[in-house]
Formats: sequence, structure tokens, C-alpha cells
Amino acid sequence: MLDLAIIGGGPAGLTAGLYATRGGLKEVVMFEMGLPGGQITQSSEIENYPGVFREEPHLTGMELMEPWPKQCMHFGLKHEMAEVKNVTKSGNIFKIKTFDKEYEAKSVVVCTGSTPKRAGFKGEDEFFGKGVSTCATCDGFFYKDKEVAVLGGGDTALEEALYLANICSKVYVIHRREEFRAAPPTVQRVLKNSKIELILNATVDEVYGSAMGVEGVKVSKKDGSSLDLKVPGIFVFVGNNVNNKVLKQDDGSYLCDVNEYGEVIVDLNMNTSTKGLYAAGDMRINAAKQVVCAASDGAIAGMGALNYVQENFND
Ligand code: FAD
Ligand code: NAP
Repeated sequence: MLDLAIIGGGPAGLTAGLYATRGGLKEVVMFEMGLPGGQITQSSEIENYPGVFREEPHLTGMELMEPWPKQCMHFGLKHEMAEVKNVTKSGNIFKIKTFDKEYEAKSVVVCTGSTPKRAGFKGEDEFFGKGVSTCATCDGFFYKDKEVAVLGGGDTALEEALYLANICSKVYVIHRREEFRAAPPTVQRVLKNSKIELILNATVDEVYGSAMGVEGVKVSKKDGSSLDLKVPGIFVFVGNNVNNKVLKQDDGSYLCDVNEYGEVIVDLNMNTSTKGLYAAGDMRINAAKQVVCAASDGAIAGMGALNYVQENFND
């Protein structure tokens, strides 16, 4: 029987493992279907994780994460390279199913992250990380005093457009309709912002560029006209998929409460509505979707699981 099963080996999962093992839990397994490190390993530059800044060349996500597993394994965390199918609870014991095995655990931290949706225009995948971004907090600064485009008309797109307008010289917001899905006060702030230009009833056909990155965005409007925006960056905010399927039960319900977007509801201690089950990182409600925040969540969840196991299992 495991003391703790951690599902997902990104910054949240690794940090949960570090705190739980270093705090005294013996049997702690982190289930990660790929290499530990999480989605930041896809990023070619990270400059907002405190204490590890490198000016040129920028620190890559892979470089940032490389030492984390080694540090965790030193304190006893074990890595099982497997995709978890689902987690259930019977009495006070959790069952973790992978494709070919079943494990039992006294507590679980789930931290499987979330995945921004892609819009599907030409060049989106090719230039992802080279001018196409889904994170203004992460990449906005690289476009300081430059013009950028934002795609989407929801709360995320408009809030991030306002954020980018503080850094960039101009922000084009491209939206496929006339009306916005975002909250009216946010729309009003956007309309009043002189640095934001709206391009409505419009879709992105293509981003183009060179090996150096994006050089422009081709846009088609419903009235038949087209635009060629000479911008080095486009931020795509067309929704998000929360990776919560491991919590799905056979009857279609979830093992713990989730909100209407599928984000796991937690309190400030990362407790879910199910005792002994914690959620951390990008998959939880109100996540800032930053490495430092996911790591912080993981630490809190790891400490929570440690206390829970020590208080509820006296063997
Ligand atoms: P993730 O990092 O998403 O980790 C989840 C892990 O769970 C993954 O490794 C996945 O393989 C695993 N997993 C999922 N389902 C299963 C399953 N069923 N079984 C087993 N394993 C599973 N943040 C910053 O702070 N600064 C930046 O500059 C920055 N830049 C970014 C650039 C890019 C291109 C991207 C994609 C993200 C960036 N982020 C940045 C965001 C940051 O990467 C995330 O906020 C952070 O990684 C979230 O950590 P997490 O542990 O919650 O989830
Ligand atoms: P969202 O509300 O689903 O909005 C996605 C936007 O992208 C929509 O405007 C949609 O257009 C557009 N879109 C979708 N697919 C597209 C495509 N392929 N090409 C072009 N455009 C596309 O997503 P979100 O903004 O990430 O918000 C998710 C949820 O979180 C929402 O309920 C939101 O209210 C909430 N949220 C709240 C806050 C806050 O309260 N401060 C902040 C952020 C998010 P259409 O409008 O035409 O469908």
C-alpha cells in the first residue's frame, strides 16, 4: 500500500513528492506518463521563475526542470512511468488504475495540469513557442514596445489583452463575432484602452515567418476583406481543457467536486471535497498557471497529505 500516489509529474507533482518524502512518508510514487518536468519543458525560455534567471541565452524550460527529479528521488520519491486511467476510493483507501496495474494508496495528490486549446490556423503548431503563445504572463515581456495580436473574445483573451497593453505598443484583438463572451466591465475597459484595436468578425487564416519566428498574421473578415498584420507575436486564448479525466468515475461523476469548467475545487490547503485527495497546479480553480504557483500548490498538497496519513493511519 502506498502512503501517497501523485498523479502527474510537472512542477506541482514533483514538489508534492519532495515535501511528502522529505517530511517522512516512505512509500510515495509519482505517476508520470512522460518524462518528469511537465509542460514547461516545451518552453524555449523562462525568465520569471525566481532565483534562476539567465539573460542570454535564456534558460529553457527543460534546463529549469532538469534538476528537480534528481532532488526528489534523493529523498525517496519513486517514479512510475505510466498513464493513470482513473482514481477511485473505497472506504478510506484509494485505487489507482494504470493500463496494466492497480495500486492502493492512503492519499492522492492529483496534478495533471491543463492544456490550452489550439485555434487551428495554418502555422499555429509550427510557430508555437516562436511567436505563437498561450501565456501573456510568460511571454508578453518578449514583445515589450512591439505590436502583438490576441485571438479570442472571452474573459481570458480580453484580460490578457489589457495585460499586454501595459507592455506592448499596440494590441490587435481578433475576434470571430461582433459580441464578446467576456464580462461587460472587462469589455468596457478594453474599449477605453487606446492601445487596443479591435478586429471583429474576423478569423486568423495563417501566421507566417522564418526560422527566427513569426513575422505576420493573415486575417480574413466576414465582409470579404483581408488584413496582413506585421506583428512578431500572436497570443491565442480560445479556451482551455482541464486534464481531469483521471477523476472520472464509471457513472460519469467525478471523485471530487469540480466547477463548470472541470477545474477541481480546492481550499487554501489544496483539500478537495474528498478526504485524503488533494489537487494542485494548473488543474485547480483560480490557478495562476505559472511554474512558481504550481510548485507552491504542490508543497502545500504534499504537506497536507503527510499530515493526513500520519493522523489517519497509525501503522
Ligand atoms: P503540468 O506542467 O501540465 O504537468 C502535468 C503533468 O501531468 C504532465 O507532465 C503530464 O504528462 C502528466 N499527466 C497528465 N495526465 C496524466 C495521466 N493520466 N497519467 C500520468 N501523468 C499524467 N509558466 C511560468 O511560470 N513561466 C513561463 O515562462 C511559462 N512559459 C510557458 C510556456 C509554454 C510553452 C507552456 C506550455 C507553459 C508555460 N508556463 C509558464 C506554464 C507552466 O508550464 C505551467 O503553469 C506549469 O507547468 C503547471 O504545472 P503543473 O504541475 O500543474 O502541470
Ligand atoms: P471562453 O470563454 O470559452 O472563450 C473562448 C473565446 O475564444 C470565445 O470568444 C470564442 O469565440 C473564441 N474561440 C473559440 N474557438 C475559437 C477558434 N477556433 N478560433 C477563433 N476563436 C475561437 O474561454 P476563456 O476566455 O478561456 O474563459 C473560460 C472560462 O473562464 C469562461 O467561463 C470565463 O468567463 C472564465 N474566466 C473568468 C475570468 C474572470 O472572471 N476574471 C477570467 C478568465 C476566464 P465565441 O465567443 O464566438 O465562441
